[in-house]
Amino acid sequence: RIAIAPSQFQQGQILLTKEQQHYLGRVLRLREGDRFIAMDGKGKWWLSQLAGEQARVLEALLVETELPVSITLIVALPKGNGFDEVVRCCTELGVTCIAPVLSDRTLLHPSPQKLERWRRIAAEAAEQSERSFVPTILEPVTFNTGLSLVISHLSFANSQQYICEARGEFPHLKDCLQPKGQMTNDIGQETIVIATGPEGGWTTQEIENAIAFGFEPVSLGRRILRAVTAPVVALSLITAACEV
Ligand code: SAM
Repeated sequence: RIAIAPSQFQQGQILLTKEQQHYLGRVLRLREGDRFIAMDGKGKWWLSQLAGEQARVLEALLVETELPVSITLIVALPKGNGFDEVVRCCTELGVTCIAPVLSDRTLLHPSPQKLERWRRIAAEAAEQSERSFVPTILEPVTFNTGLSLVISHLSFANSQQYICEARGEFPHLKDCLQPKGQMTNDIGQETIVIATGPEGGWTTQEIENAIAFGFEPVSLGRRILRAVTAPVVALSLITAACEV
């Protein structure tokens, strides 16, 4: 499988870049006439056939690897390269959009090149998990800006918003999520928004702000998870709840 940009399609042919020719010919050892799958990262896959420096599009393929809900993950950036792992694992688990945020206790202030790196990691992880969709990685913003940005795109009738809080008596996320089969991505796709905090945790003010935006504080269990582990656990629970 290789990812193809829309500009590479021309009248039933795909114009392959030098890197793609190298990957198909040298790495995958495909020969003239061999078949492979081209994907546009937006849900479309095509069975294609290698023909010199180009490929012939044989047929559009129908694939269903996406979850029946849309999941937006708001993550306070963990320190070091921890966010790389969050992007990789959560993409594998089916996340739709990741919004990295700078919270009051966030230690990392990422360079502009990081965003490009995270988007590349998401594209690679989507490809390896045979997803038909590459998650959107938003530019890092402050937590409050992230909340209003995400909320402004929601239809409240079809959404659930949770903020994970490591301390305190909150209901477990697994008990809050609707049962299997009741979440649907037909018309009016259901969206789940989930927020996880930094190494030092959310401040009381941040939790209050999130509640004001309609978020429900939830627990992920009795143990304190690392800032990198919490989003992966949250995504796993959502996946288990909504995949029929
Ligand atoms: N020292 C922090 C505290 O006392 O809150 C721990 C923060 S934890 C390392 C990082 C983030 O992961 C938390 O802000 C929370 O969002 C999430 N998290 C970790 N364990 C959790 C749990 N058991 N339940 C809910 N959220 C959790």
